[in-house]
Amino acid sequence: MIAEIIAVGSEMLTPYRQDTNSLAMPAELNRLGVAVAFKPILGAEFSQLVDAIRIALRRVDIVLLSGGLGPTEDDLTREAVAAALERGMSRDQTVVGSLKERFNRRGIQIREINFKQGDVIDGAELLPNANGTAPGQWIAAAYEDIPRYLALLPGPPKELTALFAEQVRPRLAAVIPAQHIATALLRMAVVPESEVDARTAPIYQAYPDVSTTILSTIGEIQLHFLCAKPSQAEAEARVADVLQRCADEMRPVVFSEDGSSPEVVILRLLAKRGLTLATAESCTGGLLSQRLTSVPGSSSSILGGAVVYSNALKTTFAGVSPGLLDQHGAVSESVARALAEGIRQRTGADVGVGITGVAGPGGGTGEKPVGLVYLAVSTRATTEVRELRLMGDRERVRWFSSQHALMLLFTLLQQDGSPGAVTLDQP
Ligand code: ATP
Ligand code: MG
Repeated sequence: MIAEIIAVGSEMLTPYRQDTNSLAMPAELNRLGVAVAFKPILGAEFSQLVDAIRIALRRVDIVLLSGGLGPTEDDLTREAVAAALERGMSRDQTVVGSLKERFNRRGIQIREINFKQGDVIDGAELLPNANGTAPGQWIAAAYEDIPRYLALLPGPPKELTALFAEQVRPRLAAVIPAQHIATALLRMAVVPESEVDARTAPIYQAYPDVSTTILSTIGEIQLHFLCAKPSQAEAEARVADVLQRCADEMRPVVFSEDGSSPEVVILRLLAKRGLTLATAESCTGGLLSQRLTSVPGSSSSILGGAVVYSNALKTTFAGVSPGLLDQHGAVSESVARALAEGIRQRTGADVGVGITGVAGPGGGTGEKPVGLVYLAVSTRATTEVRELRLMGDRERVRWFSSQHALMLLFTLLQQDGSPGAVTLDQP
């Protein structure tokens, strides 16, 4: 089954407000085996609302409307649904009574217009709203003899969330054929989306019963898999199978098969091997450290680090010799190596990371252009250095640098070795 979530409210067509109600519901719907196919946002124009509801009734099984159940002139969702279904409405005296009581209790004068919150579409079931005045409504209808289900939900997110969970979800569960959903997430870093797609499409296309989505963010590509089956085990087996085959294809750049972020994966590897880590960052200004320490519990492995932007601080905090800086320049393989080794020795960490580069937009030269970054990982056994030539603006260069550093750590920490000692064979 597929669903459409219609957000009603002209404020969400301005630059100032966003529709967030439609973000809360899809996860629950997916769990019920329902995919969200459309999420339009509409203002308070009555005929447009009616048209949108009619279109939804034609194309999806489940129509969820949020907003426009209030008492004001521009709250027209009830009226528009009634018009689209060609049904009448009648005023529910119990709702009117409780509105009166609510207003009385607060000592506020009730107006005629408030009573329209008690208007119920013919054949609809009222959904009591414990957190507000407007009840929701649940309607079973049909389009050309195919069953359709509609829910009218209040706009305020707190009211909507509670009503959806308590009233709508169980009603949907009762009418949806039992489906079990399994999802899986494969995360890869520092590889172009086009390459991931070219290599994995032939694999996932052989799984027509699994829906595969490729998502790209800076320095990371994700493959999302979703499968609905009559049994949970069947659905899980399918997503696990396609994930495994895609992971095998992409192996060196895959950092997690369970949805974990690169930061979490690195911390897990450090913890597993009882290793501590410290950083000396120049062009990333502490970004790597920030990312690692944003994970709860990181204090057991991350000792800290230094932001060594100037040459002087590279010497003071990471022990880089002024001679080395003079000879090779701050952005060099030797300085990256010295930063990683220096910070490791100064802090007593097991693993040291050094990053130095030209983030831009200024500061690039013919020999050392914007995007040239050196990163190094040092352990008691050895030090590995990588030269990166990154593209894009300052933010992108910095983010990619931290991403590559996490991936170098990942490659090195993953390699087998006795606990406490990182062996650093070429990856
Ligand atoms: P009310 O009785 O409060 O008028 P209502 O059902 O008419 O309820 P709206 O008037 O459309 O709902 O919205 C009430 C408030 O809820 C809005 O001010 C807005 O902040 C919030 N809201 C409405 N729709 C959404 C949405 N889709 N996403 C996020 N917030 C929303
Ligand atoms: Mg309103």
